[in-house]
Amino acid sequence: KLSIITSKHHGIRSNQITSCALKIALNLQQAGFSAYLVGGAVRDLLLGLVPKDFDVATNATPEEVHKIFRRSRIIGRRFRLVHVMCGAETVEVSTFRGPSPDEDENPASKKSIDQHGRLLHDNVFGSQEEDAMRRDFTVNALFYDPVKEEILDYLNGYEDIKAKRMRIIGDPVQRFREDPIRLLRAVRLAIKLDMQIDAETAKPIGDLAPLLQNVPPSRLFDEMLKLLLSGHALACVVELRMRGLHHGLLPMLDVILEQPLGERFITIALKNTDERIRQNKPVSPGFLFAILLWHEVLSYWNSLQASGEKPLPALFEAMNHILSLQHKKLAIPRRFDAVIQEIWAMQPRFEARVGRKPFRLLTHPRFRAAYDFMLLRCESGELSTEFGEWWKAFLSADNAEREKMLPKQT
Ligand code: ATP
Ligand code: MG
Repeated sequence: KLSIITSKHHGIRSNQITSCALKIALNLQQAGFSAYLVGGAVRDLLLGLVPKDFDVATNATPEEVHKIFRRSRIIGRRFRLVHVMCGAETVEVSTFRGPSPDEDENPASKKSIDQHGRLLHDNVFGSQEEDAMRRDFTVNALFYDPVKEEILDYLNGYEDIKAKRMRIIGDPVQRFREDPIRLLRAVRLAIKLDMQIDAETAKPIGDLAPLLQNVPPSRLFDEMLKLLLSGHALACVVELRMRGLHHGLLPMLDVILEQPLGERFITIALKNTDERIRQNKPVSPGFLFAILLWHEVLSYWNSLQASGEKPLPALFEAMNHILSLQHKKLAIPRRFDAVIQEIWAMQPRFEARVGRKPFRLLTHPRFRAAYDFMLLRCESGELSTEFGEWWKAFLSADNAEREKMLPKQT
């Protein structure tokens, strides 16, 4: 059932592939191994998109690959692969993987799945066809031989790409159980590639959503970040919600989205983020998570104030509370904490429009992020628009005008 698609049909040309990836495939083949471009890059080329990066799959072991390329290193423990560097570019070279050994056949081997069916290790080498089968979606399982300029397709991925259809490989329930991150990948890739998720694949997604609770938080964080920085964050979050996958991703994302103010805030913010990404402007993950968690901080802050705490101590307590919840669930790396906390902590300072205070605020190294954040709060209706207008005017004014805008402190 292997089908081979020749260059006449697929239309991929070598000049669309980085010289680094080409060179690596060529060198491996010259050393007597097979070597193919694989996965997202082949898919993106067929769709007329520019691949983010090129991955190579080979029958050479990581050690053999490492020996061929002087500038390379073996990485990963669970899943060993080789990073080959040329110039500024790094290409990931992985050895064909096969199915994990069955516990019954090999009782001595470590347990390969947990009680929910999640795959714990998958580091067994296999054939090229087995390597295609262990991938997630058929559109991600094509191999491209840049020397022969042929695509090798074991699973009808080529047809699915042409039909813009995302189909999981094998039994949907089993494959989602093996790795629940695939639930999120299905949504993110369908949006990014403008494809329909095939009905069979889509059917169990909602029911399996709770499996995401069982995924290591660091992987959940990586995938969430990919999704949020994809340039289609808003569409992805809407789709996650529609498929019931948003529960437990960020605790209470569901609750926030159900309050009109919270929903408006996140919608506007994600729309802005998508716009910035399309213009190749930087987006800081800290800023994004400050946004996604703000309405949780806000409601906790309000409840603390209602029970008599002073505003500022209450804000700091709410910030710490919400962030520490997040560390357990989503493992937002602690290096983002400082940014998130500064953005939140500066919010009350925008309200002090007297004396030197606004001038001091301007000099804060994180002023811009906190200011953008405050404008989003205005735009979403949480703060009055007049408030944001005042700050916009203050920013565009010269110093003399700024002095006039401020009542003297008494
Ligand atoms: P993009 O890079 O645009 O996010 P991608 O499909 O290239 O999409 P990668 O994470 O770069 O995503 O993965 C490369 C390839 O590895 C995929 O195309 C797929 O074949 C395989 N793969 C990635 N994640 C999984 C997974 N969770 N289960 C099975 N195969 C996967
Ligand atoms: Mg990729």
